[in-house]
Amino acid sequence: MRPFGFHQSISGGYHNALLSAQKMGLTAVQFFSRNPRGWKGRTVSQEEIDQFRRLSASSDIITTVIHTNYLINIASPDKEIWRKSCQVLIEELAVAERLGVDYVVTHLGSHKGRGRELGLSNVVKAVKRALGEVEPTGGGKPVLLMENSAGAGNLVGNRFGELGEIMDEVAKGGCLQECPGICIDSAHAFAEGYDVRNAEGRREIFDQLGEYADRILLIHLNDSKTDLASHHDRHQHLGKGFIGEEGLSSFLHDGNLSTQPVIMETPIDEGAGDEDNLEVFLRLEKG
Ligand SMILES: [Zn+2]
Repeated sequence: MRPFGFHQSISGGYHNALLSAQKMGLTAVQFFSRNPRGWKGRTVSQEEIDQFRRLSASSDIITTVIHTNYLINIASPDKEIWRKSCQVLIEELAVAERLGVDYVVTHLGSHKGRGRELGLSNVVKAVKRALGEVEPTGGGKPVLLMENSAGAGNLVGNRFGELGEIMDEVAKGGCLQECPGICIDSAHAFAEGYDVRNAEGRREIFDQLGEYADRILLIHLNDSKTDLASHHDRHQHLGKGFIGEEGLSSFLHDGNLSTQPVIMETPIDEGAGDEDNLEVFLRLEKG
Protein backbone atom coordinates (compact mmCIF):
# COMPACT_ATOMS: atom_id res chain seq x y z
CA MET A 1 0.00 0.00 0.00
CA ARG A 2 1.21 3.51 -0.77
CA PRO A 3 2.54 5.62 2.14
CA PHE A 4 -0.18 7.51 4.04
CA GLY A 5 -0.32 9.85 7.01
CA PHE A 6 -1.32 13.18 8.48
CA HIS A 7 0.10 16.58 9.22
CA GLN A 8 1.72 16.21 12.67
CA SER A 9 2.96 18.58 15.36
CA ILE A 10 6.70 18.97 16.03
CA SER A 11 6.19 20.20 19.56
CA GLY A 12 9.17 18.95 21.58
CA GLY A 13 11.33 18.36 18.50
CA TYR A 14 11.10 17.11 14.92
CA HIS A 15 11.34 13.47 15.96
CA ASN A 16 8.00 13.80 17.79
CA ALA A 17 6.21 14.09 14.43
CA LEU A 18 7.63 10.67 13.56
CA LEU A 19 6.74 9.22 16.96
CA SER A 20 3.10 10.29 16.79
CA ALA A 21 2.82 8.98 13.22
CA GLN A 22 4.38 5.70 14.25
CA LYS A 23 1.95 5.31 17.14
CA MET A 24 -0.94 5.46 14.69
CA GLY A 25 0.65 2.95 12.32
CA LEU A 26 1.22 5.55 9.60
CA THR A 27 3.86 5.38 6.88
CA ALA A 28 4.02 9.06 5.87
CA VAL A 29 4.27 12.29 7.83
CA GLN A 30 4.07 16.01 7.14
CA PHE A 31 5.04 18.81 9.52
CA PHE A 32 5.91 22.50 9.71
CA SER A 33 9.63 22.96 10.26
CA ARG A 34 9.02 26.29 12.02
CA ASN A 35 6.30 28.61 13.26
CA PRO A 36 3.88 28.59 10.29
CA ARG A 37 2.82 32.18 10.92
CA GLY A 38 6.12 33.96 11.63
CA TRP A 39 9.05 35.03 9.46
CA LYS A 40 11.72 34.09 11.97
CA GLY A 41 13.23 30.62 11.71
CA ARG A 42 14.80 28.72 14.56
CA THR A 43 18.23 27.29 15.03
CA VAL A 44 18.22 23.54 14.71
CA SER A 45 20.90 21.68 16.62
CA GLN A 46 22.83 18.81 15.08
CA GLU A 47 21.55 16.68 17.94
CA GLU A 48 17.94 17.24 16.87
CA ILE A 49 18.85 16.44 13.26
CA ASP A 50 20.58 13.22 14.29
CA GLN A 51 17.69 12.19 16.49
CA PHE A 52 15.25 12.66 13.60
CA ARG A 53 17.46 10.82 11.12
CA ARG A 54 18.00 7.89 13.48
CA LEU A 55 14.31 7.47 14.17
CA SER A 56 13.43 7.99 10.52
CA ALA A 57 15.80 5.19 9.48
CA SER A 58 14.53 2.73 12.08
CA SER A 59 10.78 3.46 11.77
CA ASP A 60 8.22 2.33 9.21
CA ILE A 61 7.81 5.88 7.94
CA ILE A 62 8.53 5.86 4.22
CA THR A 63 7.63 9.40 3.15
CA THR A 64 8.52 12.61 5.02
CA VAL A 65 7.25 16.05 4.03
CA ILE A 66 7.85 19.59 5.26
CA HIS A 67 5.04 22.06 4.58
CA THR A 68 6.36 25.60 4.25
CA ASN A 69 5.34 28.52 6.35
CA TYR A 70 1.96 30.17 5.52
CA LEU A 71 3.47 33.64 5.05
CA ILE A 72 5.45 32.65 1.98
CA ASN A 73 4.37 34.62 -1.08
CA ILE A 74 6.81 34.00 -3.91
CA ALA A 75 4.33 35.56 -6.37
CA SER A 76 4.34 38.87 -4.47
CA PRO A 77 4.90 42.14 -6.36
CA ASP A 78 6.25 43.61 -3.10
CA LYS A 79 10.03 43.27 -3.32
CA GLU A 80 10.57 42.99 0.43
CA ILE A 81 7.90 40.30 0.88
CA TRP A 82 9.24 38.44 -2.16
CA ARG A 83 12.81 38.57 -0.82
CA LYS A 84 11.77 37.35 2.64
CA SER A 85 9.68 34.58 1.04
CA CYS A 86 12.65 33.39 -1.01
CA GLN A 87 14.76 33.38 2.12
CA VAL A 88 12.23 31.28 4.03
CA LEU A 89 11.90 28.87 1.10
CA ILE A 90 15.69 28.48 1.00
CA GLU A 91 15.76 27.85 4.76
CA GLU A 92 12.98 25.26 4.50
CA LEU A 93 14.83 23.41 1.73
CA ALA A 94 18.04 23.57 3.74
CA VAL A 95 16.49 22.12 6.91
CA ALA A 96 14.78 19.42 4.82
CA GLU A 97 18.14 18.57 3.32
CA ARG A 98 19.70 18.27 6.78
CA LEU A 99 16.84 16.11 8.05
CA GLY A 100 16.81 13.93 4.93
CA VAL A 101 13.16 14.83 4.29
CA ASP A 102 11.77 13.77 0.90
CA TYR A 103 9.57 16.71 -0.06
CA VAL A 104 9.07 20.39 0.70
CA VAL A 105 5.54 21.48 -0.21
CA THR A 106 4.83 25.15 -0.75
CA HIS A 107 1.91 27.36 -1.68
CA LEU A 108 2.86 29.94 -4.31
CA GLY A 109 1.00 32.98 -3.00
CA SER A 110 -0.84 35.92 -4.51
CA HIS A 111 -0.09 38.54 -7.16
CA LYS A 112 -2.02 41.06 -5.00
CA GLY A 113 -3.96 42.47 -7.93
CA ARG A 114 -0.90 43.17 -10.08
CA GLY A 115 -1.71 40.47 -12.62
CA ARG A 116 -1.03 36.79 -13.14
CA GLU A 117 1.82 37.31 -15.54
CA LEU A 118 3.90 39.22 -13.00
CA GLY A 119 2.91 36.80 -10.23
CA LEU A 120 3.96 33.76 -12.24
CA SER A 121 7.26 35.27 -13.35
CA ASN A 122 8.03 36.09 -9.71
CA VAL A 123 7.30 32.45 -8.79
CA VAL A 124 9.67 31.21 -11.51
CA LYS A 125 12.45 33.54 -10.30
CA ALA A 126 11.96 32.46 -6.69
CA VAL A 127 11.96 28.74 -7.47
CA LYS A 128 15.09 29.08 -9.59
CA ARG A 129 16.82 31.06 -6.86
CA ALA A 130 15.85 28.64 -4.10
CA LEU A 131 16.88 25.57 -6.07
CA GLY A 132 20.11 27.28 -7.06
CA GLU A 133 21.09 28.12 -3.51
CA VAL A 134 20.54 24.90 -1.67
CA GLU A 135 23.55 22.73 -2.23
CA PRO A 136 22.50 19.45 -3.84
CA THR A 137 23.97 16.39 -2.16
CA GLY A 138 23.30 14.05 -5.03
CA GLY A 139 20.71 12.12 -3.06
CA GLY A 140 17.94 13.83 -5.02
CA LYS A 141 16.40 15.15 -1.80
CA PRO A 142 14.46 17.16 -0.99
CA VAL A 143 12.20 17.71 -4.02
CA LEU A 144 10.31 21.00 -4.02
CA LEU A 145 6.58 20.50 -4.64
CA MET A 146 4.23 23.33 -5.65
CA GLU A 147 0.72 22.91 -4.27
CA ASN A 148 -2.35 23.92 -6.29
CA SER A 149 -4.48 26.62 -4.66
CA ALA A 150 -8.25 27.05 -4.41
CA GLY A 151 -7.96 30.30 -6.38
CA ALA A 152 -9.30 32.66 -3.71
CA GLY A 153 -8.61 36.36 -4.35
CA ASN A 154 -5.45 36.79 -6.40
CA LEU A 155 -3.82 33.46 -5.57
CA VAL A 156 -1.82 31.92 -8.37
CA GLY A 157 -1.18 28.22 -8.98
CA ASN A 158 -4.90 27.41 -8.96
CA ARG A 159 -4.85 26.34 -12.61
CA PHE A 160 -2.81 23.27 -13.44
CA GLY A 161 -1.87 24.82 -16.77
CA GLU A 162 -0.11 27.56 -14.79
CA LEU A 163 1.81 25.03 -12.73
CA GLY A 164 2.89 23.36 -15.99
CA GLU A 165 4.10 26.71 -17.37
CA ILE A 166 6.12 27.38 -14.21
CA MET A 167 7.76 23.96 -14.46
CA ASP A 168 8.53 24.61 -18.13
CA GLU A 169 10.26 27.89 -17.32
CA VAL A 170 12.20 26.42 -14.40
CA ALA A 171 13.32 23.42 -16.46
CA LYS A 172 14.50 25.66 -19.32
CA GLY A 173 17.58 26.76 -17.42
CA GLY A 174 18.26 23.14 -16.49
CA CYS A 175 17.77 21.98 -12.91
CA LEU A 176 20.86 21.48 -10.81
CA GLN A 177 18.82 19.39 -8.42
CA GLU A 178 15.72 17.44 -9.28
CA CYS A 179 13.22 19.79 -10.96
CA PRO A 180 10.14 20.72 -8.91
CA GLY A 181 7.04 18.59 -8.82
CA ILE A 182 3.41 19.05 -7.82
CA CYS A 183 1.42 18.30 -4.71
CA ILE A 184 -2.25 18.00 -5.66
CA ASP A 185 -4.75 18.96 -2.99
CA SER A 186 -8.14 17.39 -3.74
CA ALA A 187 -10.11 20.05 -1.82
CA HIS A 188 -8.28 22.96 -3.47
CA ALA A 189 -8.70 21.49 -6.97
CA PHE A 190 -12.41 20.95 -6.30
CA ALA A 191 -12.87 24.49 -4.94
CA GLU A 192 -11.09 25.83 -8.00
CA GLY A 193 -13.64 24.06 -10.21
CA TYR A 194 -11.99 20.77 -11.22
CA ASP A 195 -14.55 18.08 -10.49
CA VAL A 196 -12.16 15.57 -8.95
CA ARG A 197 -15.11 13.23 -8.23
CA ASN A 198 -15.15 11.97 -11.79
CA ALA A 199 -12.73 10.96 -14.53
CA GLU A 200 -13.77 13.82 -16.79
CA GLY A 201 -12.92 16.48 -14.20
CA ARG A 202 -9.59 14.84 -13.48
CA ARG A 203 -8.83 14.51 -17.18
CA GLU A 204 -8.89 18.32 -17.35
CA ILE A 205 -6.11 18.42 -14.75
CA PHE A 206 -3.88 15.91 -16.54
CA ASP A 207 -4.51 17.50 -19.95
CA GLN A 208 -3.54 20.92 -18.65
CA LEU A 209 -0.38 19.52 -17.08
CA GLY A 210 0.54 17.72 -20.30
CA GLU A 211 4.01 16.22 -20.03
CA TYR A 212 4.13 17.22 -16.35
CA ALA A 213 1.18 15.04 -15.34
CA ASP A 214 3.68 12.49 -14.06
CA ARG A 215 5.25 15.16 -11.84
CA ILE A 216 2.35 14.88 -9.38
CA LEU A 217 4.42 13.33 -6.62
CA LEU A 218 2.23 13.82 -3.55
CA ILE A 219 -1.48 13.99 -2.69
CA HIS A 220 -3.12 16.15 -0.04
CA LEU A 221 -6.32 14.20 0.51
CA ASN A 222 -9.03 16.40 1.96
CA ASP A 223 -12.77 16.65 1.53
CA SER A 224 -14.23 20.12 0.97
CA LYS A 225 -16.65 22.08 3.15
CA THR A 226 -17.58 24.20 0.15
CA ASP A 227 -19.02 23.26 -3.22
CA LEU A 228 -17.38 22.93 -6.64
CA ALA A 229 -15.79 26.18 -7.89
CA SER A 230 -16.46 28.02 -4.60
CA HIS A 231 -12.81 29.17 -4.47
CA HIS A 232 -12.94 28.77 -0.69
CA ASP A 233 -10.18 26.71 0.93
CA ARG A 234 -12.08 24.84 3.66
CA HIS A 235 -10.92 21.31 4.42
CA GLN A 236 -13.46 18.77 5.68
CA HIS A 237 -13.34 15.24 7.11
CA LEU A 238 -13.14 12.54 4.43
CA GLY A 239 -16.60 11.67 3.20
CA LYS A 240 -18.31 14.48 5.09
CA GLY A 241 -17.90 17.19 2.47
CA PHE A 242 -18.97 17.98 -1.08
CA ILE A 243 -16.51 15.53 -2.65
CA GLY A 244 -17.88 12.67 -0.56
CA GLU A 245 -16.73 9.09 -0.08
CA GLU A 246 -17.59 7.99 -3.58
CA GLY A 247 -15.82 10.98 -5.11
CA LEU A 248 -12.69 10.50 -2.98
CA SER A 249 -12.62 6.81 -3.78
CA SER A 250 -12.82 7.52 -7.50
CA PHE A 251 -10.01 10.11 -7.09
CA LEU A 252 -7.74 7.67 -5.22
CA HIS A 253 -8.24 4.88 -7.73
CA ASP A 254 -7.57 7.05 -10.79
CA GLY A 255 -4.71 5.45 -12.72
CA ASN A 256 -2.73 8.71 -12.52
CA LEU A 257 -3.17 9.07 -8.76
CA SER A 258 -3.13 5.56 -7.42
CA THR A 259 0.48 5.31 -6.20
CA GLN A 260 1.50 8.69 -4.79
CA PRO A 261 1.86 9.06 -1.01
CA VAL A 262 -1.19 10.57 0.71
CA ILE A 263 -1.15 13.23 3.44
CA MET A 264 -4.45 14.14 5.07
CA GLU A 265 -4.88 17.69 6.38
CA THR A 266 -8.35 17.03 7.72
CA PRO A 267 -9.70 18.98 10.70
CA ILE A 268 -9.66 17.83 14.30
CA ASP A 269 -12.95 18.93 15.91
CA GLU A 270 -16.09 17.65 17.62
CA GLY A 271 -17.08 15.98 14.33
CA ALA A 272 -14.07 13.68 14.02
CA GLY A 273 -10.30 13.41 14.32
CA ASP A 274 -7.36 11.70 12.66
CA GLU A 275 -8.37 8.19 13.77
CA ASP A 276 -11.77 8.56 12.08
CA ASN A 277 -10.29 9.92 8.87
CA LEU A 278 -7.71 7.16 8.84
CA GLU A 279 -10.47 4.58 9.03
CA VAL A 280 -12.26 6.15 6.06
CA PHE A 281 -9.03 6.43 4.06
CA LEU A 282 -8.11 2.78 4.59
CA ARG A 283 -11.58 1.66 3.58
CA LEU A 284 -11.49 3.78 0.41
CA GLU A 285 -7.93 2.79 -0.47
CA LYS A 286 -8.69 -0.90 -0.19
CA GLY A 287 -11.79 -0.33 -2.33
ZN1 LIG B 1 -2.99 21.09 1.22
